[in-house]
Amino acid sequence: MDAAAFLIDILFPPECIACGARLTHGSLCAACRIGIAPHRTAFCGGCGAPLPGLRSICHPHAPFLLGAAGRYGNPALRALVYGLKFGKIRGAAEPLGDILAHYCARLPMDLRGMWVVPVPISRARMRERGFNQSALIAERFARFFGMPVADDILVRHTDRPPQSEIADHDARRANVHGCYAMKKDPDDPNTAVPRKVILIDDVTTSGATFFEAASVLRRAGVKKIFALAVAKA
Ligand SMILES: [Zn+2]
Ligand SMILES: [Zn+2]
Repeated sequence: MDAAAFLIDILFPPECIACGARLTHGSLCAACRIGIAPHRTAFCGGCGAPLPGLRSICHPHAPFLLGAAGRYGNPALRALVYGLKFGKIRGAAEPLGDILAHYCARLPMDLRGMWVVPVPISRARMRERGFNQSALIAERFARFFGMPVADDILVRHTDRPPQSEIADHDARRANVHGCYAMKKDPDDPNTAVPRKVILIDDVTTSGATFFEAASVLRRAGVKKIFALAVAKA
């Protein structure tokens, strides 16, 4: 910690984002951290069933394997996600990235050669929020494993209502349909596309966002996709 950060911590002691407890550093207290019981399995990308091994038997042709660190019903996890997304508390991305990394590290998975790709947000949302929450989580996650991040290959080119405002499953699918595209670099039309991708989003509910983004990546030549969310609703 540098001198300026140290001084700021003394003047404005940090508080746990989830419960408000005073902290000496960081943004989540130990009790809330322990209270977030992480999942121990990955999930089927087709139906969301837990997969103790990583191979889906029910939907072997699902476009991705789904991962979710915890339940959105967990109050601490929800407070972190909410703080980051709607309270613009950037510091919440660090514990969220760490929770995601620890969850992923315990899965029996070969992570070699994987690139991290955050689910993009629209330009309008970016202007309003100032950052892409999934990109901040992805950055922290990638640093834990020393993985490369490709945060500019996928773009969201339309602005539609947030998925959280739509309850119906089919309507969620329709709402994100056609939203994502590969970014074409005019100077380099043959921009390399990674073969294996960990696609990161904050929350997954119906899986519609992952499905849409994964379809675009697959059409561009990505062979293997692990769609990873901090929380599953
Ligand atoms: Zn707490
Ligand atoms: Zn399934």
